[in-house]
Amino acid sequence: MQDETIFGKIIRREIPADIVHEDEHVIAFRDIAPQAPVHVLFVPKTTIATLNDVTPDQSDVLGTLVLAAAHYARREGLAEDGYRVVINCNQAGGQTVFQLHLHLLAGAPLGRFGTSR
Ligand code: AMP
Repeated sequence: MQDETIFGKIIRREIPADIVHEDEHVIAFRDIAPQAPVHVLFVPKTTIATLNDVTPDQSDVLGTLVLAAAHYARREGLAEDGYRVVINCNQAGGQTVFQLHLHLLAGAPLGRFGTSR
């Protein structure tokens, strides 16, 4: 549950983060272990553990997350060069924090996807 994750603690200001955007629905902050020159996490304030848990009536949560990332990319001048958004889901997807979140990666050519083994 979000309340029990590190992201819940960030939302409640119990631990620090480099917050770059916040509104009623979403908080966005820089990843503590960036995988690109720009690496920002967008987290809904609604408690949802994984993408598997999003119900049809919560599709607006996904729309809000993606649009918040796109808005941030435009605001920061990243949109024209381009960027990547990623949602990891469960263990094989590389998810380590079980509160739904979207990664925005930008600032350099990102290469292709792949397995790491
Ligand atoms: P995921 O692996 O998709 O669950 O992504 C979780 C991300 O959260 C990782 O990229 C971590 O580096 C990042 N992360 C973990 N703890 C913090 C923190 N306290 N502040 C910012 N990012 C964090």
